[in-house]
Amino acid sequence: MKIDSFRHKGLRQKLITSLRDKGITSEEVLNAMNRVPRHFFMAKGFEERAYQDNAFPIASEQTISQPYTVGFQTMLLNVRKSEKVLEIGTGSGYQTAVLLELGARVYTIERHRELFLSAQKLLKELNFSPYCFYGDGYEGLPTYGPFDKIIITAGAPEIPEKLIEQLKPGGIMIAPIGDSKTQKMLKISKNENNQTSIEECGNFIFVPMLSGKK
Ligand code: SAH
Repeated sequence: MKIDSFRHKGLRQKLITSLRDKGITSEEVLNAMNRVPRHFFMAKGFEERAYQDNAFPIASEQTISQPYTVGFQTMLLNVRKSEKVLEIGTGSGYQTAVLLELGARVYTIERHRELFLSAQKLLKELNFSPYCFYGDGYEGLPTYGPFDKIIITAGAPEIPEKLIEQLKPGGIMIAPIGDSKTQKMLKISKNENNQTSIEECGNFIFVPMLSGKK
């Protein structure tokens, strides 16, 4: 059984306070993160460190994103209730859960079968209802789109064009773009005339976005 104890809740509250101090100013995002027990999403042996503001290893040599990064990307995404959101890189499922807490309808893709299966199972156990897909995020989900928002949680060498096509007019895509060492967080906005504009929002380090399934 999964237990979210008073101690966990206390540690989580402290983490949330530190994220606010570091510049995550959306109370809506902070509240959503405060409702998701991150320790449920950690790999065995790392549960104790769930409320440190760091990325940690999960299966298939991937990582659960740093809480600050999750807060930052989610804040930029500006999710409204019932919006259709596409997430690339399900990983642990933690970011997926935060988006669901904000009331989004979440479609999430993972290229590692092991992670796809474990995140799907965990999210179901926790009563979250995302649409989980095993596949290559570079392809997006053309039959389920277009999407109000798209969030990429792995570092891509360039903006995936197929994903831009699956963004609604007025939509926003948040994507870390760069080489394997460092990526720039880009906010890509599509206007009502289907023209895109790009805003740079700082440097981050993600595991790489790779093509094909594993
Ligand atoms: N959102 C996740 C972050 C996991 S790290 C979390 O909160 O835990 C990024 C994830 O993206 C990894 O699990 C990796 O396997 C996945 N990934 C990388 N390239 C991908 C692609 N082309 N399609 C789908 N998933 C991809």
